[in-house]
Amino acid sequence: MVNQSGKKKGKIFKKKQNIPVSNIVEELCAKYNTIDEAAIKTFDDLPLSSETQKGLKESNYIEPLPIQKQSIGLALRGEDILGAAQTGSGKTLAFLVPVIELLYREQWTRDHGIGALIITPTRELAYQIFETLKQIGKYHKFSAALIIGGQNKRFEKNRINQCNILICTPGRLLEHMDENPLFDCTGMKILVLDEADRCLEVCFQENMNAIIENLPPCRQTLLFSATQTKSVVDLARLSLKQPVYVSVHELSQHATPAKLQQSYVICNLEDKMALLWSFLKAHEREKIIVFFSTCKQVNYTYEAFFSLIRTKHTFPPRTHLAKIYGRMSQQQRLENYRIFNDKQRVVLFATDVAARGLDFQNVHWVVQMDCPEDANTYIHRAGRTARYQAGGNSLLVLLPSELAMLDRLADKKIPIKKLK
Ligand code: AMP
Repeated sequence: MVNQSGKKKGKIFKKKQNIPVSNIVEELCAKYNTIDEAAIKTFDDLPLSSETQKGLKESNYIEPLPIQKQSIGLALRGEDILGAAQTGSGKTLAFLVPVIELLYREQWTRDHGIGALIITPTRELAYQIFETLKQIGKYHKFSAALIIGGQNKRFEKNRINQCNILICTPGRLLEHMDENPLFDCTGMKILVLDEADRCLEVCFQENMNAIIENLPPCRQTLLFSATQTKSVVDLARLSLKQPVYVSVHELSQHATPAKLQQSYVICNLEDKMALLWSFLKAHEREKIIVFFSTCKQVNYTYEAFFSLIRTKHTFPPRTHLAKIYGRMSQQQRLENYRIFNDKQRVVLFATDVAARGLDFQNVHWVVQMDCPEDANTYIHRAGRTARYQAGGNSLLVLLPSELAMLDRLADKKIPIKKLK
């Protein structure tokens, strides 16, 4: 464009300056010590990279939830954290944001290899974390991989060392550590255990001990769960450095979400199936998870109800049935997980593989047909409903011989009413 004097008009916009990443990182780090949790209203109030801020905004995460406010600042400062917060209260972002920011600060690239390990007890939970990471981390340049059983191991083997963030289940991670000569996590910076108390339980103990032996001791460690371990033995195994205990529900009245309505019913063994059938008929337009203690029970009930529905047409045709248990093929598990997530009128029969962490949308009811192993398992099962700001209902079915469970729930501050 030419102006009246015949001279070329100067550009009115300043040329965008390319600020070196190291300067940006320095500026961010300088703000870490001044983070005031009480003053945080939105994620913009936290010193996070613009890439993370953009990813959070696009995923509609605007205001951090209490567990995120309390732990992100501490984790950015490099503290080890033991985080406990009720089910559905936003723990995933509480550890994903610091993981991403740490690798950003270190200017991590593909050539640096594995920088972060996120370990979680079930494949579905790993998948869910991976999906959230893909959303909020989409403007970063790191790569991430899902390392879970039931997938193509050879494919994982060839890719694993080029990935910066691994989200894995303990068994599969250990297989790679043992069998894959390319696997190298000696440079990793941060370890996250999601559902930490479960990861440290006896059934995972051997695997976890072997994994921990392979990790560099100089690293940051974040442990999160709705039912957190404070066991000194567990923490010593993980060689935490003076961890900070962050608990959102310790001061709240109950260990379960406020909007969760909880009830129990006493029922004889021979009446259980009839009770479940009547319950499902009475709630036929709703989304329901029914927990059993074994794969056999899940399969039996699924098949029985499926054929009843087909032959008697007693449920509305749009009600779906699905099932999830450990011995099912991974493809089927994932397919059923998706069916349950996407449908509105659907009943999922499941074992405890679905008890922890899974963030299903809009579940109306959780029914526990078998008494859970302990109060923590009760909390996790019931926590599949009433997530984030939603309400939900839970029904526990007890045999007359199982009433001692009520005392254990009372010890954990769980408000539960008897249904007649
Ligand atoms: P989580 O406990 O991490 O599984 O999160 C429970 C639910 O809360 C999920 O559906 C998340 O998408 C949602 N959520 C987590 N953090 C936030 C946030 N800051 N704003 C809105 N929703 C959130």
